[in-house]
Amino acid sequence: MSSVQFTITHKLDGTLARAGKIATPHGSIQTPAFIVGGTKATVKALTPQQVDELGGQAVLANTYHLMLQPGAAVVHEGGGLGAYMHWSKPTFTDSGGFQVFSLGMAYKKGIDATSHSEKGSGDLATHSTHQLAKVTDDGVTFRSHLDGTKLTMTPESSMELQHAIGADIHMAFDEATSPLAGRQYLRQSLDRTHLWAERSLKQHNKLNEQHREHDEPEQALFGIVQGGREEDYRRESAQLLGHMDFDGYGVGGVYEPGEISHVVRWVNETLPEHKPRHLLGMGAQPADLFLGVEFGIDTFDCVAPTRQARNGALYTYSGRINIKNARFVHDFTPIDTNCDCYTCQHFTRSYVHHLFKADEILGAVLASIHNERFIVSTIDHIRESLMDGSFYAYKQTFLNQYYGAAHAKTYLS
Ligand SMILES: [Zn+2]
Repeated sequence: MSSVQFTITHKLDGTLARAGKIATPHGSIQTPAFIVGGTKATVKALTPQQVDELGGQAVLANTYHLMLQPGAAVVHEGGGLGAYMHWSKPTFTDSGGFQVFSLGMAYKKGIDATSHSEKGSGDLATHSTHQLAKVTDDGVTFRSHLDGTKLTMTPESSMELQHAIGADIHMAFDEATSPLAGRQYLRQSLDRTHLWAERSLKQHNKLNEQHREHDEPEQALFGIVQGGREEDYRRESAQLLGHMDFDGYGVGGVYEPGEISHVVRWVNETLPEHKPRHLLGMGAQPADLFLGVEFGIDTFDCVAPTRQARNGALYTYSGRINIKNARFVHDFTPIDTNCDCYTCQHFTRSYVHHLFKADEILGAVLASIHNERFIVSTIDHIRESLMDGSFYAYKQTFLNQYYGAAHAKTYLS
């Protein structure tokens, strides 16, 4: 039996949308849910208590970063991810595949690594692009962004690392393809991802058996569906992985909210209905959340809310603002009068503006609390709207107000 149990409690008639619950050894996640980005076993600028208070239900850490620093063995010695970072609720890790690949591809294509790293990879963008990932059917060879050490990751080693880190839910090792990859390369890559899915699952089952023998909690593994923007590849991938004994599924390689209504739909129309589905590296834009849910996604993760917060880019219900802008000097209202977060209850735009201008670290803390709460609260309302049947009305009102009617149209058709 799987170590996580997924229950669907509500479905929105005639759509793929559902609300439910994922029960894990560390408590339940009410879905749809935003999984807070905890890349290096920390949600940047926030204590676990603050993450809990703003309604965070689970955090997602990154295997690539933790294998380099402090090392998966250290996290294991510290009691596993949750105990090590003092987070008692559910935890996720991603396989490390995305980070290992993103810089290699950025290097090969001669494009800016920033656009990739924004999708949830942590801080790779700040490092030079002399690294190059080399892919074979066995695995990937790459260089550490910290000291250039040459390393190899295979499906088996990714499983070993993720079991040592010990999250409740972890991800199969897949090949993350560039949004620029053509059909021919996608074919080759997809075959590899499917082969790696089988190898990941085999190694994962072996490691879970060891957990059982040692009376340790077992972990759950999600398979990752790839296939770019090609409908036949996406459906094939969902079909093939759907027949394998994964505990749930991740949808990888989706880069824009506009892709959700077709790419995610193809996948979720094909995957088995009774298993949870995670959209990897999306959720920085409210449109991601509404469209993801509408097309059958249960959980999201993204590091962008805190990253944007540290840059002074703050969500409000009428769109994003940059708090560093001079127009806020004399603005003594909250970031958003409709937000119930700690920041908005106690501080003004003027004060947060001042903290940013004076380079005070409290600015990053208050901004991060607000942005995370904004996203978490939005997904909470989406969940409630699925339960009482008001999803489409809520979607329309929210997106019109956030993006303006003209832009919102793109997401409302
Ligand atoms: Zn707020």
